[in-house]
Amino acid sequence: MPAAAPAPWIVLKFGGTSVSKRSRWDTIGRLMRETAGRDGARVLTVVSALSGVTNALQALIDGHADAGATAAAAEALVERHERFCADELGLDPQAVLGARMQALRALAADPRRAAAALDWQAEVLAQGELCSSTLGAAYLRAQGLDIGWTDARDWLRTVSIPNQGEWARRLSVSCSTASDDALRARFAAQPHALLLSQGFIARADDGGTAILGRGGSDTSAAYFGALVGARRVEIWTDVPGMFSANPRQVPDARLLTRLDYEEAQEIATTGAKVLHPRCIQPCRDAGVPLWIRDTDRPELPGTEICGSAAPVPGVKALSSRRGIVLVSMESIGMWQQVGFTADVFERFKRHGLSIDLIGTSQTNITVSLDPSENLVSSNVLEALCADLAHVCRVKVIAPCAAITLVGRGIRGLLHRLTEVWSEFGRERVHLISQSSNDLNLTFVVDEELADGIMPRLHGLLIASGAMPVDETAVFGPSWRRLGLPEGARREAWWMARRDDLLDRAAAGTPRYVYDLDTVRARARGLAGIAAVDRRFFAIKANPHPAILRVLAEEGSGLECVSAGELAHVFAVLPDLDPGRVLFTPSFAPRAEYADALARGVHVTVDSVAPLRDWPELFAGREITLRIDPGFGSGHHEKVRTGGKGAKFGLAVDAVPAVVAAAAAAGARIVGLHAHIGSGIHDTAHWREVHAVLASTADEIGTVAFLDIGGGLGIAYDPDAEAFDLAAYARELVEMKAARPEYALWIEPGRWLVAEAGVLLLTATQVVDKQGVRRVGADAGMNALLRPALYGAFHEIVNLSRLDAPPGTPVDVVGPICESGDVLGRRRRLPDATREGDVLLVADAGAYGMVMANTYNQRALPVEEALA
Ligand SMILES: *Cc1c(COP(=O)(O)O)cnc(C)c1O
Repeated sequence: MPAAAPAPWIVLKFGGTSVSKRSRWDTIGRLMRETAGRDGARVLTVVSALSGVTNALQALIDGHADAGATAAAAEALVERHERFCADELGLDPQAVLGARMQALRALAADPRRAAAALDWQAEVLAQGELCSSTLGAAYLRAQGLDIGWTDARDWLRTVSIPNQGEWARRLSVSCSTASDDALRARFAAQPHALLLSQGFIARADDGGTAILGRGGSDTSAAYFGALVGARRVEIWTDVPGMFSANPRQVPDARLLTRLDYEEAQEIATTGAKVLHPRCIQPCRDAGVPLWIRDTDRPELPGTEICGSAAPVPGVKALSSRRGIVLVSMESIGMWQQVGFTADVFERFKRHGLSIDLIGTSQTNITVSLDPSENLVSSNVLEALCADLAHVCRVKVIAPCAAITLVGRGIRGLLHRLTEVWSEFGRERVHLISQSSNDLNLTFVVDEELADGIMPRLHGLLIASGAMPVDETAVFGPSWRRLGLPEGARREAWWMARRDDLLDRAAAGTPRYVYDLDTVRARARGLAGIAAVDRRFFAIKANPHPAILRVLAEEGSGLECVSAGELAHVFAVLPDLDPGRVLFTPSFAPRAEYADALARGVHVTVDSVAPLRDWPELFAGREITLRIDPGFGSGHHEKVRTGGKGAKFGLAVDAVPAVVAAAAAAGARIVGLHAHIGSGIHDTAHWREVHAVLASTADEIGTVAFLDIGGGLGIAYDPDAEAFDLAAYARELVEMKAARPEYALWIEPGRWLVAEAGVLLLTATQVVDKQGVRRVGADAGMNALLRPALYGAFHEIVNLSRLDAPPGTPVDVVGPICESGDVLGRRRRLPDATREGDVLLVADAGAYGMVMANTYNQRALPVEEALA
């Protein structure tokens, strides 16, 4: 019988904060025991020094010139460790730490101190890990764990790298990852199944101590993992893992539960701080999976980095690096001058600068310098520029930020990035670089821009499908969700009315159902903003009579864009004061203006044509001008109604001509209006609009009110942040305070009604085709056009099986003969979903029924409002 294979190793690593408390050591002991028990593995744990100790050791080194101060610094460290040993761990310091403290004192008195010899420095720095691992082993043994202690320097050997200086060869070393059977056998022969060792330290060629440098402990764990052929390396830290963006900038950033080595390397290199980029390569070379886990929340999946799983194309992360310096070099010689590139790059080498990104043209080379790779002081830059000036014209552009999209197969995704491109298109992009490994696309922009743009870009990446967050193998919960107590997801009204909705669905689907309480609550939210003088509901979002009545009751006016909408409003509310109605058409025929003027509603003119061509209509009338402030905003290109590409509004420089035309016609301009997009979350947007309107109004002189439009967004993704009404209100208060002489009007549509509506459908068929499962519904783009038209996301649930666990991802499709008839992709409906189940499409109260159509001769949905 063959001998049983030796139990595999699993390597765990704990950082400084994870070893500086007794309770944390209890956690380490428990995790070691559980890991060994569950996986039948042996466990090697690598630890950092106690928090702050490495810095204290570095300070001791920095003060080496003063013998007394060095000795005092050593004493302080002795005392810190002894106190931790006695007070925190309840152990006898003399028995546990005696030898270590002696070594520390001896180093302070070592003759190599005076000159701060590099080998002495390395030995001093090593004491932190030697002490913490010694303390931990003693504590865990006292808790009854049979644990061994091993000196990392017996296993990790440095390798030298070309161009490495003396300092780096001792204090920022790399170690060999070449598989060494003898060493592996020796390691395997150790008597303990649980072992404790140190991060950060290794053995130099001369037998002395060497230090791994930044990110050292993670890298040690990776080296150990490679060396012993571990089943995996687990990095235990104080965050849940790697995220799709920096969660402090982007609370909607998603936990990345699985990455391949190359992607993880790229994310770590372009900004994520969780893992040092250096620690990925050893695991990758040895094919050892690397896990990031949260010490405080071991139940979370963490991030698994491996090379085995099938790659998922798509953007995985968005990162930004600040402090980037661009150097732009214009050739002064001839076009395509031979040797120009070599000439300039040689000068960067001469100044010790390593180049990150490169953009070239026939006569220009622009490169970026990353501050994390370089010491880009102004002195160095000046010297470099002086030197470069011999061969080219130089321009330095700084400070910049590099915003990077990381993910496999970026090249195949360019068509999905139109929104991202247009977001950047509003700003100045200095350099675009697409990496040759097809893993990253980087935009270099002015630094001040970077932070503000990140949440928006992240949202656009998700909305466009470029970041495939429905891939549940790769994307976990959002940072925001992780911060919430278990199960505390958004409470939607329809959850509490499930039985009622199922009964209604039984009477026939497709069916829109509106919750009037939700509409009322939203209306009251806006009514509470005192800075707003008048509110108008844009009825095109949802003209259902019950909704119009509720909103009119709550004090809202109504905004119409056609004669048809006007007729509808006065049919539903015959007694409504026409002064509470706006008419804001686009390219409408003359008769519609005539109709609106006859009704006495506020009429908005959005080009010179009506005044020029039909002056008699406007004689003696008060009108509003629709201004295009020159920029647009919103969730999709098709809903951006400002800027050169949009058909709406008067460009600011065309206003004088229109004012003249109004005067000629005998019309008086009493209001200015702008509505430049829909689905906007950035509340600062309306302040910009208001500023343009106010300054235009100042020029005209007869204006009494400024209408800043609607466009308030909602969170279609239940994981995303709700519209920040408080921030919106603050902006409105500021606008009003800045220009109190103008009345402030707003006209939201979507925000008032979207969440109040659901679309109920019935499942027709469940079909598997070539690896994709589709659940058919009895209506699709004919009932709800938004997903097909805008690529919009709507949450979809199986209302019949609301409590069943999420299953394998499916595409939810309609019955229309168009490939675009998809309501949602990769949705995790319950696996038991079958014909006859009721599907609920959430947040369908705005731009739902109004865009429904009878394409394919399918009947329109029915509608009902819940009182
Ligand atoms: C559509 C529209 C609105 C409302 O837009 P929402 O994004 O639904 O808030 C406001 N004003 C005008 C002129 C509109 O056309």
